[in-house]
Amino acid sequence: MAVTNNVVVVGAGVLGLSTALVLSKRDNIRVTVVSKHMPGDYDIEYASPWAGANYWPVGKPGSNLQKFESATWPELARIVREVPEAGVHFQESRVYGRKKDAGTATGQWFEELCKEDAWFKDVAPNFRVLPRSELPEDCDTGTAFTSVCINTAIYLPWILGQCVKNGVTFKRGILSHISEATSHHTSGKADVIVNCTGLMACKLGGVMDANVYPGRGQVVVVRNDPGFMTTTSGTDDGSDEATYIMQRAVGGGTVLGGCLQHGSWESQPDPNLAQRIMQRSIELCPSLAPKTGKVNELSIIRHGVGLRPMRNGGPRVEKEKIEGSWVVHNYGHAGYGYQSGWGSAWEAEKLVLEVLQQSKNPRAKL
Ligand code: FAD
Repeated sequence: MAVTNNVVVVGAGVLGLSTALVLSKRDNIRVTVVSKHMPGDYDIEYASPWAGANYWPVGKPGSNLQKFESATWPELARIVREVPEAGVHFQESRVYGRKKDAGTATGQWFEELCKEDAWFKDVAPNFRVLPRSELPEDCDTGTAFTSVCINTAIYLPWILGQCVKNGVTFKRGILSHISEATSHHTSGKADVIVNCTGLMACKLGGVMDANVYPGRGQVVVVRNDPGFMTTTSGTDDGSDEATYIMQRAVGGGTVLGGCLQHGSWESQPDPNLAQRIMQRSIELCPSLAPKTGKVNELSIIRHGVGLRPMRNGGPRVEKEKIEGSWVVHNYGHAGYGYQSGWGSAWEAEKLVLEVLQQSKNPRAKL
């Protein structure tokens, strides 16, 4: 009889779902996902539905994040080409940098993204440096390249469906301690737990990661078509405000952002900030309001707030034994969980396999 190893993935955001899918492709791993929130939910503790979401790499050269972002691009591009029902499309993107944003919250976040010799020039297709004549007046640098934009309302259920097809079981549950996950597997005790709890890793018993904190993002989703994705490294409205515009695939609307408010847990949209976001978006991308150039030409679908799972030191993808249970952590992906998601899931998979082999589990013939 074939033997299997039981893995419980905690969390059903983009990291939990991607990791569950990667693991479910192995014949001798049986995966249960347990989570407080699932695709379809909108909650301030659940970052994934709120994301743009696109591929604008920000990892520093040599960092794990850069490795994950670099590894993730080919898979996202494959999904666009081969799986149209996953809700991802190619989009031309223009990224503008302002020297005066160096050192601000948004300037630091976009530091690598805005470089004219960015490391991803050989990863994202059609990378080119924009001549001064193509830059907005107040910008000093600019690049254009082909990126993707993901409709999260389609992509997350699509990954979930792929998991179900591979035999993954999904359960609702709220854990107060990570080790409780061992008893959540539908086929017996878990051999390994994968912790994909995002921001809530700062409050989960047995983890309580003090390096994790919220990076609040506010968006306005509109029906208007910008024609391309674009962003600037900052604004004159505040050092934690940015402007970014991206149109989601298959009718997902256009996401206008935003901000990066470190440490804020505020779940409600700020109407003044929403007004600034819309005003700046039209200034940066007049094709959003071609008739009047005014904010009231924007057709609003909804306002939204999401909390990015920030982490000092970057995403945590490592293994740890907690109260006798092996845990592989995969959380802390801040504003880059989609663009680094597959690379990070493959790294977590490697660690799960190491744990199963190290623990000399007789079933771990992997
Ligand atoms: P989450 O999606 O938060 O999922 C965590 C899961 O863990 C949830 O299912 C939750 O219910 C579960 N959970 C937590 N605690 C417990 C518990 N105790 N018991 C049971 N279950 C628990 N990224 C990009 O790559 N590109 C973008 O363009 C982009 N834009 C963004 C724009 C905004 C406004 C925001 C807010 C984020 C953006 N991001 C973007 C970042 C991206 O959304 C996150 O990095 C990603 O969603 C994090 O996914 P996650 O699975 O780690 O966390």
